[in-house]
Amino acid sequence: MNSKVRDVSHLALPLHDGMHEDNACLSLTCCQCGAVLKTGLLAGIAQGKHWYHALPTTEQQGLVTAFGYQLSLLGNIPMVKLPSGRNAYFVLLDCACNERWLAVVEYYEYQPARYKATLVATARFENAAT
Ligand SMILES: [Zn+2]
Repeated sequence: MNSKVRDVSHLALPLHDGMHEDNACLSLTCCQCGAVLKTGLLAGIAQGKHWYHALPTTEQQGLVTAFGYQLSLLGNIPMVKLPSGRNAYFVLLDCACNERWLAVVEYYEYQPARYKATLVATARFENAAT
Protein backbone atom coordinates (compact mmCIF):
# COMPACT_ATOMS: atom_id res chain seq x y z
CA MET A 1 0.00 0.00 0.00
CA ASN A 2 1.46 3.35 -1.06
CA SER A 3 -0.88 5.54 0.90
CA LYS A 4 -0.75 6.16 4.61
CA VAL A 5 -3.56 6.77 7.01
CA ARG A 6 -2.50 8.69 10.11
CA ASP A 7 -4.09 10.07 13.22
CA VAL A 8 -7.21 7.93 13.03
CA SER A 9 -9.92 9.22 15.37
CA HIS A 10 -12.97 7.11 16.00
CA LEU A 11 -16.07 9.19 16.63
CA ALA A 12 -19.82 8.90 16.81
CA LEU A 13 -21.00 12.27 15.65
CA PRO A 14 -24.56 12.45 14.27
CA LEU A 15 -24.66 14.30 10.96
CA HIS A 16 -28.17 13.77 9.79
CA ASP A 17 -31.42 12.06 10.78
CA GLY A 18 -34.54 12.33 8.69
CA MET A 19 -35.58 13.40 5.23
CA HIS A 20 -33.90 16.04 3.07
CA GLU A 21 -30.62 14.17 3.21
CA ASP A 22 -29.67 16.05 0.05
CA ASN A 23 -29.30 19.18 2.23
CA ALA A 24 -27.04 17.50 4.79
CA CYS A 25 -23.51 18.76 5.13
CA LEU A 26 -20.29 17.37 6.47
CA SER A 27 -17.72 19.73 7.90
CA LEU A 28 -14.35 19.08 9.42
CA THR A 29 -11.67 21.34 10.83
CA CYS A 30 -8.23 20.82 9.31
CA CYS A 31 -5.95 20.01 12.24
CA GLN A 32 -2.99 21.35 10.29
CA CYS A 33 -4.17 24.91 9.56
CA GLY A 34 -7.54 25.28 11.28
CA ALA A 35 -9.54 25.83 8.10
CA VAL A 36 -13.08 24.49 8.08
CA LEU A 37 -13.64 22.05 5.22
CA LYS A 38 -17.19 21.42 4.04
CA THR A 39 -18.95 19.24 1.55
CA GLY A 40 -22.51 18.22 0.83
CA LEU A 41 -23.03 14.80 2.40
CA LEU A 42 -24.40 13.00 -0.65
CA ALA A 43 -21.97 14.67 -3.05
CA GLY A 44 -19.08 13.76 -0.75
CA ILE A 45 -20.22 10.15 -0.49
CA ALA A 46 -20.66 9.86 -4.27
CA GLN A 47 -17.24 11.35 -4.94
CA GLY A 48 -15.64 9.19 -2.23
CA LYS A 49 -17.20 6.02 -3.67
CA HIS A 50 -15.85 6.84 -7.09
CA TRP A 51 -12.39 7.48 -5.63
CA TYR A 52 -12.41 4.34 -3.49
CA HIS A 53 -13.61 2.04 -6.28
CA ALA A 54 -10.80 3.30 -8.52
CA LEU A 55 -8.10 2.31 -6.00
CA PRO A 56 -6.15 -0.91 -6.45
CA THR A 57 -7.55 -3.79 -4.39
CA THR A 58 -4.55 -3.75 -2.03
CA GLU A 59 -5.20 -0.07 -1.28
CA GLN A 60 -8.89 -0.70 -0.69
CA GLN A 61 -8.00 -3.47 1.74
CA GLY A 62 -5.27 -1.41 3.40
CA LEU A 63 -7.62 1.49 4.03
CA VAL A 64 -10.32 -0.52 5.73
CA THR A 65 -7.67 -2.33 7.80
CA ALA A 66 -6.19 1.02 8.90
CA PHE A 67 -9.57 1.95 10.37
CA GLY A 68 -10.25 -1.52 11.79
CA TYR A 69 -13.15 -2.24 9.42
CA GLN A 70 -13.91 -5.12 7.09
CA LEU A 71 -13.99 -5.11 3.32
CA SER A 72 -16.84 -7.05 1.80
CA LEU A 73 -17.87 -7.48 -1.79
CA LEU A 74 -21.34 -6.89 -3.16
CA GLY A 75 -20.89 -8.61 -6.50
CA ASN A 76 -17.59 -7.02 -7.45
CA ILE A 77 -18.33 -3.74 -5.66
CA PRO A 78 -16.18 -3.22 -2.56
CA MET A 79 -18.17 -2.24 0.52
CA VAL A 80 -16.76 -0.98 3.80
CA LYS A 81 -18.35 -2.77 6.73
CA LEU A 82 -18.33 -1.29 10.21
CA PRO A 83 -18.19 -3.49 13.32
CA SER A 84 -21.97 -2.87 13.54
CA GLY A 85 -22.35 -4.59 10.14
CA ARG A 86 -23.57 -1.39 8.50
CA ASN A 87 -21.96 0.19 5.46
CA ALA A 88 -19.62 3.12 5.71
CA TYR A 89 -18.38 5.48 3.06
CA PHE A 90 -15.18 7.41 2.68
CA VAL A 91 -15.44 11.14 2.08
CA LEU A 92 -12.36 13.08 0.99
CA LEU A 93 -11.81 16.62 2.18
CA ASP A 94 -8.90 18.45 0.60
CA CYS A 95 -7.54 21.52 2.32
CA ALA A 96 -5.84 24.51 0.72
CA CYS A 97 -2.80 23.75 2.92
CA ASN A 98 -2.38 20.46 0.96
CA GLU A 99 -3.59 18.20 3.72
CA ARG A 100 -6.04 15.55 2.62
CA TRP A 101 -8.52 14.31 5.21
CA LEU A 102 -10.61 11.21 5.10
CA ALA A 103 -13.94 11.15 6.86
CA VAL A 104 -15.77 7.86 7.32
CA VAL A 105 -19.54 8.19 7.31
CA GLU A 106 -22.05 5.55 8.30
CA TYR A 107 -25.09 6.16 6.12
CA TYR A 108 -28.24 4.10 5.86
CA GLU A 109 -32.00 4.19 5.61
CA TYR A 110 -33.22 3.87 9.18
CA GLN A 111 -36.91 3.87 8.30
CA PRO A 112 -38.59 4.43 4.92
CA ALA A 113 -37.42 7.87 3.73
CA ARG A 114 -35.59 8.46 7.01
CA TYR A 115 -31.85 8.45 6.54
CA LYS A 116 -29.24 8.49 9.23
CA ALA A 117 -25.68 9.63 8.78
CA THR A 118 -23.00 9.50 11.45
CA LEU A 119 -19.40 10.59 11.26
CA VAL A 120 -17.60 7.52 12.62
CA ALA A 121 -13.95 8.33 11.94
CA THR A 122 -11.53 10.84 10.54
CA ALA A 123 -7.89 10.50 9.53
CA ARG A 124 -5.11 12.26 7.74
CA PHE A 125 -4.45 10.69 4.35
CA GLU A 126 -1.12 10.67 2.60
CA ASN A 127 -0.52 9.23 -0.80
CA ALA A 128 3.10 8.47 -1.51
CA ALA A 129 2.36 8.34 -5.24
CA THR A 130 1.36 12.01 -5.47
ZN1 LIG B 1 -5.41 22.78 6.24
